[in-house]
Amino acid sequence: MIPAKGYAAQNPQSDLAPWDFEVREVGHHDVQIRIMYCGVCHTDLHQIRNDWYPGIFPMVPGHEIIGEVISVGDHVKKFSPGDWAGVGTMVDSCGHCHECGHGHEQLCTDGTVWTYNSMGKDGLPTYGGYSNVIVVNEHFALQVSKTLDPRGVGPLLCAGITTYSPLRRFRVGEGHKLAVLGLGGLGHMAVKFGLAFGARVTVLSNSPAKREDAYQLGAHDFIDMSDAAQAESVKGTFDFIIDCVSAKHDLNLYLGLLATNGVHICVGIPSEPFELSAFSLLSGNKSVAGSGSGGIQETQEMLDFCAEHDITADVELIDIKDVNAAFERMVRGDVRYRFVIDLNTL
Ligand code: NAP
Repeated sequence: MIPAKGYAAQNPQSDLAPWDFEVREVGHHDVQIRIMYCGVCHTDLHQIRNDWYPGIFPMVPGHEIIGEVISVGDHVKKFSPGDWAGVGTMVDSCGHCHECGHGHEQLCTDGTVWTYNSMGKDGLPTYGGYSNVIVVNEHFALQVSKTLDPRGVGPLLCAGITTYSPLRRFRVGEGHKLAVLGLGGLGHMAVKFGLAFGARVTVLSNSPAKREDAYQLGAHDFIDMSDAAQAESVKGTFDFIIDCVSAKHDLNLYLGLLATNGVHICVGIPSEPFELSAFSLLSGNKSVAGSGSGGIQETQEMLDFCAEHDITADVELIDIKDVNAAFERMVRGDVRYRFVIDLNTL
């Protein structure tokens, strides 16, 4: 086993604190990655707090990983030492079910192995990127262009693909009015992709202070949802809403902002279920859809698209000792727009 160090939560009530652990030796198809940067996703906080289901503790979060390949197994084809590699939300899947066969490893019917808070096929828990090293099968490592600023790449591996994938699936583009609900880590990536795909992009936010940021990101319009008159002014107008909100909110209100045949795409995962009136759907033939991260092939496509269009996340770099304070700021909405941990500070 290879010694590793990181920051872990020992239980759902504890802060993250330094913790030593081990990762597996490099197998024939594995790459060993020295982690350079890791994004702080709201999912990390949901998971260490058991917001959705009981977790596996100690838990080392982090699934927005970029680092340098330092060792490769003898059958590895995609990587050489010195390359940059990314790791997103998953590190293994069965590889032979219908979903895996179609490049949807995140939907593996045998059970996707997540990057942390998951049991690997070796029966050992997985540990994430708030740490110095990860060993992963090369299939689950993504190739990262060295033309991109590495500090802004980690968030592409989750916030990026989670917004890119449904916008592509619904072919959002020119002639469409796209609303991005919740201008956080996912939301700001949805704005960037929506614009890159040619849509007219409106930010729907409950934080009026983010108005200028939204315009600087390139959004065409900004609606302060805490102002009833502003909310009323966009009723029945959007073809798509991509919902990136992490906390409880009223879906019926937002369905009212969709045009006929509009689609509300849920990517945010509040811990409480939605209450949904059938009338909110019937009036205007509306749909609610969901989307979870994306497959490996599509994630590579997204990274290549970002390299071509020079798209990265807007980040605030932090020392790992400040990660608990960063969680608190994230809950307050005080992040522009992704905290990224510099693992050199570990
Ligand atoms: P984040 O950076 O904290 O952004 C969440 C945004 O939601 C905030 O910036 C805020 O936007 C809005 N918001 C927060 N509380 C709200 C409330 N009470 N009412 C209305 N709006 C509120 O979080 P994130 O990292 O982008 O993640 C967002 C959600 O997506 C989380 O639930 C996360 O677990 C989930 N997620 C899902 C997937 C997937 O595969 N589907 C992948 C990654 C993350 P405004 O200030 O603009 O209002």
